[in-house]
Amino acid sequence: MRLLIAEDDPMLGTGLRRALQRAGYTVDLAVTGDDAMAAARAQSYALILLDLGLPNVGGIEALKAIRGRRDPTPVIIVTARDRPEQKVEGLDAGADDYVVKPFDLDELLARIRAQIRRGEKRTSDALSAHGVSIDLAARTVALGDRAVSVTAKEFKVLAALMRRMGQFVSKEELEDALYDDTAEVESNTIEVAVYGLRRKLGAGLIVTARGLGYTIPKQA
Ligand code: CA
Repeated sequence: MRLLIAEDDPMLGTGLRRALQRAGYTVDLAVTGDDAMAAARAQSYALILLDLGLPNVGGIEALKAIRGRRDPTPVIIVTARDRPEQKVEGLDAGADDYVVKPFDLDELLARIRAQIRRGEKRTSDALSAHGVSIDLAARTVALGDRAVSVTAKEFKVLAALMRRMGQFVSKEELEDALYDDTAEVESNTIEVAVYGLRRKLGAGLIVTARGLGYTIPKQA
């Protein structure tokens, strides 16, 4: 797992890099704000540790640039600036966590692990296959680059099938997925939802097999 440290203090930067490498991470070290921005653009990092007082481009500005590109990489600000309004500014600029120097290394490592876990969860909220992508958290569906509007029932059926891609899901299981939607599930609810999904997202997306139920095949 690859991390980026943006830190201009040579002692702290190299010390932190060594500690993170010992913890099993691959670590890049940027010593200026624009180096940090360039590295974040060139590489996909599991997490960025960002000092605020950086030469050339300050940490806040670098962070805003990263978020401006809709880059969701978790960022922990690590700084000596400990005033509440400075924390507010950092978090508002898009940081996920804020650690004040001097920090406890074990605590920082735990915060890094926590953010990486959250980052992984965010990515697993997005599933895609056959040109169709679904964001379980935002509850949005897209076909290629185009947003597709689906009903609540269609979304739940699609989400249930996407989560278990490659496996057959029975009609009863899909009805259970809809249970909180309506007090009583009408007998053709699933057929109607599948019909709607095929019409909106392509006839081949959902495959039916008698006695087994429905599946979205895994892509070869
Ligand atoms: Ca600094």
